Amino acid sequence: MNSPLSYVHPTSDSAWGTYLSQIDRVVPYLGPLARWAETLRRPKRALIVDVPIELDDGTIAHYEGYRVQHNLSRGPGKGGVRFHPDVTLEEVMALSAWMTIKNAAVNLPYGGAKGGVRVDPRRLSRGELERLTRRYTSEIGLLIGPTQDIPAPDVNTNGQIMAWMMDTYAVNTGHTATGVVTGKPVHLGGSLGRVKATGRGVFVTGREAARRIGLDLQGARVAVQGYGNVGGVAAQLFAAAGARLVAVQDHSGTLHREAGIDATALAAHAQAQGGVAGFPGASPLDDEAFWDTPCDILIPAALEGQIGADRAARLQARLVLEGANGPTVPEGDRVLGERGVLVVPDVICNAGGVTVSYFEWVQDFSSFFWTEDEINARLDKIMVEALARIWDVADLHRIPLRTAAFAVACERILMARQDRGLYP
Ligand code: GLU
Repeated sequence: MNSPLSYVHPTSDSAWGTYLSQIDRVVPYLGPLARWAETLRRPKRALIVDVPIELDDGTIAHYEGYRVQHNLSRGPGKGGVRFHPDVTLEEVMALSAWMTIKNAAVNLPYGGAKGGVRVDPRRLSRGELERLTRRYTSEIGLLIGPTQDIPAPDVNTNGQIMAWMMDTYAVNTGHTATGVVTGKPVHLGGSLGRVKATGRGVFVTGREAARRIGLDLQGARVAVQGYGNVGGVAAQLFAAAGARLVAVQDHSGTLHREAGIDATALAAHAQAQGGVAGFPGASPLDDEAFWDTPCDILIPAALEGQIGADRAARLQARLVLEGANGPTVPEGDRVLGERGVLVVPDVICNAGGVTVSYFEWVQDFSSFFWTEDEINARLDKIMVEALARIWDVADLHRIPLRTAAFAVACERILMARQDRGLYP
C-alpha cells in the first residue's frame, strides 16, 4: 500500500535507515495509534535549494542547501542548521525526524525540522560565510518564520550565523522578528544559558541515569567524542561533579590520560586551536583506540553513525550518553543491549539545547527575559521529569530507553495527528 520513498536510498546503518528501524521497533507499543505510524516514515516537506555565492577571488561557487520539515502535528517546525561537507538530503531528513521525536519526548510545543548546507565552512572567509548564510536563509525564506519553522545552531553553526539569519529574514520581511531563529547572541534576543544548554542536558540526564544504576560520579572515568558546545561543556560539568576525563577525540585527533585531563583547559585550547590536537596535558592516541579506552561513561558528541556492532562490542563503558544525534546504528544498539550497556538516547540526552531554544523563543515573544538561574532550574526540571517518564515506560514494557523515548514521543505526535484529522 505504502511504497518506500523514491528519492532516498537508506541503508541499514545510514541516518534515515537508522531512524526507520527505530520507528519499526516502536510500532508494537503504539496500540491503535499504530494506524497513523506511516506519517512518521515520510517528511511532510523537503526543500532543496541552490546557494550560489561570489567567493573572495571572484569565482562563483554553488552549494546544495536543504530545509526539511519532518512533522508539524504538534506545532511549528524546530531544529538546527548544519554546515558540513558531507550533508545530504537523507541525513537532513533523519535529523529533522529526530527533532520531531526529541521535541515530543520533552513535550515542547513543536514539530521537527532541520536544515543543512553541503559546505566546509572552514574553507570560507568570514565574508563568504556571511554571504552563504544570507543566501541560504533567503532561499528557505518561504518555509521559515517565528510561527512556522524556527532554525537554530547545529554542527558548525553558531550565534553569529543565527544573527545573520535573523537579519536576512528581517530585511526580507520588512520587520525584525527575533523569534525566527534561536541560539542568537544574548544582546540580539538570545537566551542566557543557551550555548551551554545541550551539554548541560547531557550532564543532567547522565547524572540521573548514573544514580539509577548505582554508578558514582565521584572518580567515574569519562570518554568524550567531540569537544565543542556539547562534549566540551558536558565534560566540564562531569569533571566539576568529581568525574575524571580520560579520553577525548575530535576531528583533529585523539587524546588520552588515565590520571585525568583538565577539561576546562582543554576547552580553551580547542576553542583557540580549532581542535583538541596538540593539547600539552595529555598524550596522543590512535583514533580507533579511543573506542577501547577503559571508562565508565562514554559520550559520543560528534556526528551520526559512530557506534556499529564492532565498536559496541569493544567499548568499555557502562553508560553511553548520546550527545550527538544518531551516533548509534541499529546493530550497535543491539550489541550494547546484549552487553547490558545502558544507552541514554539522543532524543532525550541532547534535548537540553532545543529546550532552552524554546525558552528563548518564549522570551522573544513576551520581550521579557529570565535570569540564567531561572533558565537552568527550568531546564533541569524538564530534563529530569522527561527522563523519569521514559524510564517508567522502559521498566513497564522491559524495553530499552530509546524505544521507550520513541513510545512516549510517538504517542504524543500521533495523538495530535489523530485529533487534528486529515485534510481534506
Ligand atoms: N541542533 C540542536 C539539536 O539537534 C538544537 C536545535 C534547536 O535548538 O532548535 O537538538
